[in-house]
Amino acid sequence: MNRQELADLIFPNITKTIADYEAMYPERNLGENARVTRFAPSPTGFMHIGHFMPCLIDYVLARQSDGIFYLRNEDTDTSRTVEGAVEYIRSVLNTYGLNPDEYEYRDTDEVKGNYGPYIQSARKEIYHAFIKHLIIEGKAYPCFLTQEEMDVIREGQARDKRRIGIYGRYAKYRDLPVEEAIEKIKNGESYTIRLKSNGDFNRKFKFNDLANGEMEFPENDIDIPIMKSKDGLPTYHFAHLVDDHLMHTTHVVRGQEWISSIPVHYELFKTFGFKMPKYIHIPLILKKEGETIRKISKRLDPEAKMTYYEEKGYPTMAVIEAIMTIANSNYEAWREGHPDAHFTEFEFSPKKMSSSGALFDLDKLDNISKNYISHLTKEEVYDGVLAWSKVYDEDFSKILEKYKDYSMKIYNIEREQKKPRKDYTYYSEIKEKTWYMYDEYFDVAKADFSAYDGEDVKTILTQYKVIYNENDTMEEWFNKIKELCTELNYATDMKAYKSDPSQYKGSVVDVTNIIRIALTTLTTTPDLYSIMKLLGKTRILARFDKMIAK
Ligand code: GLU
Repeated sequence: MNRQELADLIFPNITKTIADYEAMYPERNLGENARVTRFAPSPTGFMHIGHFMPCLIDYVLARQSDGIFYLRNEDTDTSRTVEGAVEYIRSVLNTYGLNPDEYEYRDTDEVKGNYGPYIQSARKEIYHAFIKHLIIEGKAYPCFLTQEEMDVIREGQARDKRRIGIYGRYAKYRDLPVEEAIEKIKNGESYTIRLKSNGDFNRKFKFNDLANGEMEFPENDIDIPIMKSKDGLPTYHFAHLVDDHLMHTTHVVRGQEWISSIPVHYELFKTFGFKMPKYIHIPLILKKEGETIRKISKRLDPEAKMTYYEEKGYPTMAVIEAIMTIANSNYEAWREGHPDAHFTEFEFSPKKMSSSGALFDLDKLDNISKNYISHLTKEEVYDGVLAWSKVYDEDFSKILEKYKDYSMKIYNIEREQKKPRKDYTYYSEIKEKTWYMYDEYFDVAKADFSAYDGEDVKTILTQYKVIYNENDTMEEWFNKIKELCTELNYATDMKAYKSDPSQYKGSVVDVTNIIRIALTTLTTTPDLYSIMKLLGKTRILARFDKMIAK
């Protein structure tokens, strides 16, 4: 009786060997420095910023080295799979333009790439071949500990303040004679497969993380489960090793929470004699709350979820800019020097990640976004707000479609100039800032003239109606307002007004403001002359009449 027999008993249908699979997944034909990265989310929840940042870095690393960025669905924990999570991941990648070179989508039967399946649950046979190999080599074994026995071990370890896990004397079945293991399996006893660890917890090894530098860890000595149930899927640790090996991943970018798994991963790669990819464990994403800084939380912070940015209508590029800014300390300076470059042209350096955490600041994102929108063309703003409103504000989307050119002209007020106006932070704000330009939303009741005398308002509007000419140049337009001021005893000279306000009813600022309120109901707006040009004479006079009547 030998280990081969045991392995055949456990995996009777597995005939391919590791060498067979290695032949099926040959080295990729890429340039010497090309990086192969993967985004490997587990579909156990909705994508949050802690996934987005590594994904973005994966994308940048691959793009700037003519490498490959692929998507792998890590769905080995089927009990935790959330419906719709895969589709959402795909939509985020699509929205942000982080399109993978290789992927597999079950819902539409789309596959691209020669290294699939890219869905772990479809790779069971491959994993089994690798596990079978370990059993034959005596590096993995069936473990017959029952749940109750393991609970007792765990409680004892917790009580005695010992490390938790199956190792050393707790690993009751690691040296079970093969014949006995075969007999137990034949008798139908249930089992898991464990790694037969070769490590010594008292020995240390060095590990070089590209972001965190050289780190030191104790060796793993735990016989971790690599397959939890008979004929089942392997654990994440095992599956990622097989996949990253066969898919020839060169760089693994993932969250800090995986650092504690390094000893296990290090041992697994060593056990097979495979070359480990390079690892970049990204910093925690932090948030400032009052005076304290804490980890951003899916539960507490709406901005932790990617849906937040869609709902608000941030341009995707603004979100990317904000994340790149916190991902690499020299990104901002680079951007200043290269205002028009695509973000993938930035030479990303894992060493320039902050190991103490990346502080994500919504105010900063807002600034980036405002600035970004201010530099778009009117067509781009229109397309952005229309796409947003089609999902979140159907009524407004209809208005936008009805008044396409007019809307673009609104967005163009003070846009095509050296320092464009920064009116809009995100697309959901555009309606809030432009509604008064559409008769459908204009509401006389919103006008508040309480700062002025009602009769004066009436006189100003009535007289201004007569002299207003829509063909006036800006200068003529302003001169007319000033003439009206003089006639009604409002100061046109602000200095004179300030030196003795009692001489006047008010100043040119008041007159302009009254006209502004009458036309927009607001006290601050972009350039009034431009607004009036867009409203046109008929609507201007109609609005004045409504105000006078009020
Ligand atoms: N499936 C793991 C996760 O979603 C991937 C970790 C890794 O990138 O290796 O966290």
